[in-house]
Amino acid sequence: MTDQSRRHFLKTSTAAAAGFTLIRSLTPKEAFGAMTSPDASARIVPFPLASVRLAPGIFKEQAEINARYLDSLAVDRLLHSFRLTAGITSSATPYKGWEDPGCELRGHFTGGHFLSAVALASATSGNDVLKKKGDEVVAGLAQCQKKNAGGYLSAYPEDLFEHLAAGKPVWAPFYTYHKIMAGLLDMYQLTGNTDALEVCEGMAQWVGTDFWGIGTISTEQRQRILRTEYGGMNEVLVNLAAVTKKNRYLDAARFFEQPSFLDPLAARRDELQGLHANTHVPKIIGAARMYEVTGEQRYRRIAEYFLEEVLTARSYAIGNTSQDEHWKSPAGHLEGTLVWTNAECCVAYNLMKLERLVFGWAGDGRWMDAYERSLFNCRLGTQNADGMKQYFFPLAPGYWRAYHSPEESFWCCTGTGVEEFAKFTDTIFFHRGGDLFVNQFIASTLDWKEEGLRVDQVTQFPQEQGTTLKIKAAHPAARAIHVRIPGWTAGIAEVKINGRALEAAADAGSYLAIHRVWQDGDTVSIGLPMELRQEALPGDESTAAVFYGPMLLAADLGPGPADGPSKIIHSGDTVPKNLPAADPLPKAGAGAGPEQWIQSESKSEPRFKAAGADKQYELLPMYQIRDQRYSVYWQVPSSKQSS
Ligand SMILES: [Zn+2]
Repeated sequence: MTDQSRRHFLKTSTAAAAGFTLIRSLTPKEAFGAMTSPDASARIVPFPLASVRLAPGIFKEQAEINARYLDSLAVDRLLHSFRLTAGITSSATPYKGWEDPGCELRGHFTGGHFLSAVALASATSGNDVLKKKGDEVVAGLAQCQKKNAGGYLSAYPEDLFEHLAAGKPVWAPFYTYHKIMAGLLDMYQLTGNTDALEVCEGMAQWVGTDFWGIGTISTEQRQRILRTEYGGMNEVLVNLAAVTKKNRYLDAARFFEQPSFLDPLAARRDELQGLHANTHVPKIIGAARMYEVTGEQRYRRIAEYFLEEVLTARSYAIGNTSQDEHWKSPAGHLEGTLVWTNAECCVAYNLMKLERLVFGWAGDGRWMDAYERSLFNCRLGTQNADGMKQYFFPLAPGYWRAYHSPEESFWCCTGTGVEEFAKFTDTIFFHRGGDLFVNQFIASTLDWKEEGLRVDQVTQFPQEQGTTLKIKAAHPAARAIHVRIPGWTAGIAEVKINGRALEAAADAGSYLAIHRVWQDGDTVSIGLPMELRQEALPGDESTAAVFYGPMLLAADLGPGPADGPSKIIHSGDTVPKNLPAADPLPKAGAGAGPEQWIQSESKSEPRFKAAGADKQYELLPMYQIRDQRYSVYWQVPSSKQSS
């Protein structure tokens, strides 16, 4: 087949198929009307990334480790497979693992996650070195796209899409295509690279016209194609539509709709059992963005129900979900599911993206509590000192953290990991009009130029039980500052303004709105008392995790492999070979609550000692577990245990 005929293979092969579905084009009013509706203006939205900077602390330290890893990657090596695919000579040494020239996912990181991550790092920290690298990759990709002609851009030829359309085995071509489009759009939106937008639009054009052949593909064929993982194709197309105000991208986004997945959720039915978790969360992010751009309430219902269900009926204490990458059990039944292969890290990344969107619609504190849980317990701590990330988060007792290698793995979780660790500033502060929302307690500075307001958040949270906001105002201004009072707060959160206690209080799990004419030099201190608490595994009252405030505490079960293939995986494999069997769960001590068998060991550090029924244990926050074998769950006495 010639290039030209290949590009149009779907159009012609489906033209004769029965049961065409024409997806109606929206009028501009239908498509973008909601963007200016009262609903949209009532939303709570993030600040531009350049407005918030991390102050010294654990998050800044982790972001810098991540940036060093990104900087270690070479542009010519990143572009190698794209160039070969476009017929451009490349003598660079290719990266390996999922970026190997023979891997069907190649390009997902090198032309996708890498761009998103350097765009984020550049916008959040002003890292010009990484921005320059991103610009070089964009220029290289633009050259490849031009050579390909027709807008197509990938590190593999269009054959893989032919296989997809023909129902032949293929990994996930659209998944990779999405990552590249998202990387380009991030380079445009976050760093102002206009070439990146042009390349991204070319790719979208190929999807909408060449691949789907708008209006000519049968519903059955489309739904069959969509059974293969396609990442956030719908999300990136909605985002592109919102940026360019071009309806055709919204039309293309609707081609990625799957009624079989979305309809039960719209009817508040959990039919997630058996599904691959990380394939499906991005589809809901796309639905959430569809709601934001089109105003269609059905999408909002889907997103809210999905999040509520996954977080309550399908999540572990760390704030993540899945076993062997899937939802394998009925809703509310995670008993017997603790293994090495729990909680793929990408899933938490995607759930957090969804939480910050859904939070913006109604300001429900639950979603920011959930965000905090994932941030501190299953994102922080999943990067080692060299910037390598985890894939799975083992939850069976006695296992340890394992990481990818610098150049031989390039998992999906390497990709979402380098993005996550480049965007710690994106959810700390939000605003609605001139009102400020303080969502997360991270040492940082907000520079709100339009309002002449600077806010320094000074904290060592969660080592410190609270935070302080220092206001610098160009002029006195009346506004509300809303501060999240987390659901875990023990008793009353004490709020002081300029040293004087505020009489008003907010319930734990909501936002405290402080209305006032704010003056330069005002200081707000918020005390968030922490205590020990226990949380059962859904479906199993005899298995529970212990928290201190926001921190999941882990039992230190002794040294794990400090190095070697059990610790660093030098391939595309995601699980170390020859894993031993898990340990039995450590046994909780006697007493109704954890405060009866766990005691604090230090006033300045979150260190605890547990008198277990089997032996003594040292406990520390999960995010501080590095090389040790650990357990986050305990066997606890319960009504289920008769003996
Ligand atoms: Zn992953």
